[in-house]
Amino acid sequence: MKVLSVTSECAPLVKTGGLADVAGALPAALAPLGIEMRTLLPGYPAVMKAIASGTEVWTGADPVTGTPARLLAAQAAGLDLMVYDAPDHFARDGNIYLGPDGRDWPDNPERYAAFCRVAEGICDGMAGDWRPDLIHCHDWQAALAPYFLDGATPSLLTIHNIAFHGLAPEGKIEAMGLDRADFHREGFEFWGRVSALKAGLLYASKLNTVSETYAAELMRPEFGMGMDGVLRGRAEDLTGILNGIDTAAWDPETDPAITPYKSPKGKAKNKRALQDAMGLPTDAEGPLCVVVSRLTEQKGLDMLADALPALLEGGGQLALLGSGDAHLEHRFHGLAKDRNVAVRIGYDEPLSHRMIAGGDAILVPSRFEPCGLTQLYGLRYGTIPLVALTGGLADTVIPASPAALARKVATGLQFHPVNTDALSLALTRLCDLYAREEIWNQMTRNAMSQPVGWDTSAAAYAAIYKDLVGAA
Ligand code: ADP
Repeated sequence: MKVLSVTSECAPLVKTGGLADVAGALPAALAPLGIEMRTLLPGYPAVMKAIASGTEVWTGADPVTGTPARLLAAQAAGLDLMVYDAPDHFARDGNIYLGPDGRDWPDNPERYAAFCRVAEGICDGMAGDWRPDLIHCHDWQAALAPYFLDGATPSLLTIHNIAFHGLAPEGKIEAMGLDRADFHREGFEFWGRVSALKAGLLYASKLNTVSETYAAELMRPEFGMGMDGVLRGRAEDLTGILNGIDTAAWDPETDPAITPYKSPKGKAKNKRALQDAMGLPTDAEGPLCVVVSRLTEQKGLDMLADALPALLEGGGQLALLGSGDAHLEHRFHGLAKDRNVAVRIGYDEPLSHRMIAGGDAILVPSRFEPCGLTQLYGLRYGTIPLVALTGGLADTVIPASPAALARKVATGLQFHPVNTDALSLALTRLCDLYAREEIWNQMTRNAMSQPVGWDTSAAAYAAIYKDLVGAA
């Protein structure tokens, strides 16, 4: 079966979040199941650099700008790529979505509409003989492809984060190549604007998101961000499939960024190294907690800042790596004055591995979390996740309830409701559990033996693809 994955980011070539990890991991996970996946990516500078020796399969004019553009077939980082090289849209340095002022590029709607036209074109023979049996689109950036295809090729749209709608003013309808006749409540209109995501939610043959809990949450007003009604209308076509992690890149036994280890005992050296690197004292009695995250409202780190006294009073430490909202960066800089708090603002892949390996616990207090990856890294590295009871965090952590402890199956802690008080209590409980060595070691071993790879989820995607192709 031939599948075209349509995505605006793909690790390791270009990444702003978990979407890239998933898009990067899926092709290899699906190959053993007989699925040949090619990945369509925009020709950002980082991608063009990585595919120096691509083959031109199409040249022509970009549908939005009318300026020269090309489609290249190439291989890089073990991925079979199709790259849409349209310099007017994508030859821009820095964050792929944001201009130098930190705001969305004003022409994002047209850039990604053009990209989706190319996905449609590939289904229509633009890449010669290679035509996909179905397309697998990710998030709003790819969500117009099912609209343009209008059922001609089956499509699956994966929602990685419903918070991003791909909104555009009504005046852009024609520039984006959309049909004004569909600009109404039952079409892609969303409160007077165009929503690329809504078009995808309506036109894709099937929908999924990245955990079962998030799939159920999305149909409720508190989490649906205005799309809950549309999703309730498509409840029969919406499923939840958990993300896996790249178990080769995230393997404590072979990870080149750390002192490798097989059992929880091996974490001690990494903890010491992390404390030294972050300037934290090595005599703390409580757990060293780590955070690797975008610093945004979604991630609940303002609640963590408020709840921090509970961790420090329990003798714990905090090491945080992240970047994002200026006010949160500023707040954590201030908190780092405490000798048991260390903060690194920035994006640093090797340091993220050292943090996950060296921490005793990883904190993920998100207000909503479609799947979440860092708690999965934590499990694999024996770093106990303390998470909010929401989305994929609810589905991947077995909380240390008395029953789970008695049955020796607990892998972490969950708190609910998702607020500062509940988080404070959970941090205190974390410190208590850490002090009970036998229980803590058992939880660490449980965590390390959880399956967090792609096997189950790849099979679930393959089953949807088969359904789609069978029904076409
Ligand atoms: P989201 O996609 O909402 O940001 P996920 O948990 O799904 O959240 O994925 C985040 C990914 O980005 C993980 O692979 C995480 O390790 C990585 N990451 C986030 N912030 C940083 C950072 N400052 N440095 C290195 N990696 C980071």
